[in-house]
Order: sequence, then structure tokens, then C-alpha cells
Amino acid sequence: MDATAAAKLLDHYAANARDLPWRLATRDPYRTWLSEVMLQQTTVATVTPRFRRFLERWPTVQALAAAPEEEILGEWAGLGYYARARNLIACARAVAERGRFPATESELRKLPGLGAYTAAAVAAIAFGEDAVPVDTNVERVVARVFGLAKRADVPAAARTWFPAGRHGDFAQALMDLGASICRPKRPACDRCPLAADCRAAALGTPEAFPAPKVKKERPHRHGVAWWIRRGDEVWLVRRPAEGLLGGMASLPGPEWTDDRPQVNALAIHRHGFTHFSLDLHLVPQGDPPAGEGWWQPIADLAAAGLPTLYRKAAEAALAAEREPKLAA
Ligand code: SF4
Repeated sequence: MDATAAAKLLDHYAANARDLPWRLATRDPYRTWLSEVMLQQTTVATVTPRFRRFLERWPTVQALAAAPEEEILGEWAGLGYYARARNLIACARAVAERGRFPATESELRKLPGLGAYTAAAVAAIAFGEDAVPVDTNVERVVARVFGLAKRADVPAAARTWFPAGRHGDFAQALMDLGASICRPKRPACDRCPLAADCRAAALGTPEAFPAPKVKKERPHRHGVAWWIRRGDEVWLVRRPAEGLLGGMASLPGPEWTDDRPQVNALAIHRHGFTHFSLDLHLVPQGDPPAGEGWWQPIADLAAAGLPTLYRKAAEAALAAEREPKLAA
């Protein structure tokens, strides 16, 4: 790929860059890191208001590091993939302890929870290092421009194409192009600054690149959540720190299993995780189980920081209480 294609893309980016709250004239590794962690598997539209709230509450990595874990997990509620939130906390504390973010990809990679992509993105965007971050948008555009069916071939091609000294801008230019023009379905090749240089467009089959991932069938699991009412309150607990949804507020209940439980459920809420789907059977109970927990006013459930699974399960239980026949 010749350098003029890269120059055309950078010109297009200069004129059309998305106005995103984590992009500033001055480089700020905290903003870059926070946005990249939030954007993993979550859309820009969902992340944007949440990012602003995070920054209002914790404007620096030191402030985030000093915040109570429950508050951060509560603020994260609804963004999903809670292991990311726990890694975020661990990383903020490690950075605060050393005083600042390290400035190179290899040093960033040593921070807790910072994977290869995030380390490369922070190094390139916030520190101007010639690192090559490849997210799904970058992967798709590079695969199409170079005509690569195999995703594994993309990073090497990207390294040959990113212009020296401009890796941060170029990565963001590719991300924007992938989000707005070179979309997964029906890319707008007629509006694309790379149309004359793109192998996939020349072949007339841009959507064929890269080849689709083979989807694995997700296993299905079951869980029981005890629905324990006291007037206008419901009993909530905090999940163990380790494991799925670790440290998050939840309805109480035993560990999930592969077998359908023999219970008389008030309602069943189905939820999709990345690696499996879950039927959560909501079962009314009289008394709270032994162990720690608290009575949460139902009118104030939103303040409990419930992850989406339990928030929707509680809504299903409340709906079933109101309309028992419809929900049965
Ligand atoms: S020409 Fe089409 S396929 Fe190629 S990069 Fe542009 S939008 Fe994507």
C-alpha cells in the first residue's frame, strides 16, 4: 500500500473526525485509557454519557484509584462485562501508586487488565508511540483495503501501512472510517477516501473481507434468584469478589447450574452472556438467607447499582407480581 492512501485517510480524518468526549487537543492518557476500556464490546453511543459521568465523578486516575470499589461498580452498572470494571479499578490503583501512566506499550502492558489492544491504543494515541492498535473497526478496514480474508494476517499488514509518527491519528482515522463509512454491512465505498486503493472494493465484494468468524453455539445455564420482599423493599446481596459479576449488587441465590431447577418460579428472566445464555428463575421466599445483605427500597432500585441481568430480573418479578397470570 503506498503512502498516498495513508495521507488521503489522514486528510479525511482531519476534516471529519468524530467529536468524542475523550478526544482533546491535549493528550490525556487517563481519558484515552478509560474510554478504551469502556468501549470494549460496548458502543460509542452507550459509552459517551457514561464516560462523561465517570469523568465528572473521578476527573483523574488518582481520584478513581481512591474511590470505594462499590461506587465504581455501581457507576459501571449496565455497561456489562464486569471483569473490565474490576480490572479498571486494579489498574487505576497501580497507576496511582506509581504516580502516572507509563508511556510505552511494553510498560503499559504490565498494568493489571491492560491487554495488547488497549496498551497499543494508549501508547499510540496518548503518548505518540508508533504502536499499532487493531480493534474490530481497524481490522475490518485493513482487511478490505489489503484484500485479506484471514484476520490473523491483518496486524502484519497494518504495521506496514501505519505512517511513522502518526500512529495515534491513523488508528483513530481507521476507527472512524470503520464506524461511519466502511461499515460491516453495505460499506459506503462511493464516499470512501480509500476507494481507489482498496482491493476489496476493486473485487466488488467488500463485505466478504475479512471472512466471517465461525460462531460457536452458546451453552445454556440456569440460576435461581430468591425474591424476598418486606413491604416496599427487596433483599439484595453483593456477589463474591471473584467470578462473573464479581462484587456487583444482586438478588441472592445459589450458584448457577446446567440443569433446570425444580422450583415454582414467579417469573423467569432470560439473559445472554458472551459465552452462555442463562434462565434466571425468580422464586419468592419469606426470610432473608443467612449472610450479609440489605433491604433496598423498590422505588430506588436504580440506585443499587444492579447489573443488567438483575435489574431486568427484578423488573420481571415486579411485573409478575402485578400481573401474575400474564407472567406465568
Ligand atoms: S472502499 Fe469500501 S471496502 Fe474499501 S475501505 Fe472504503 S468503504 Fe471499506
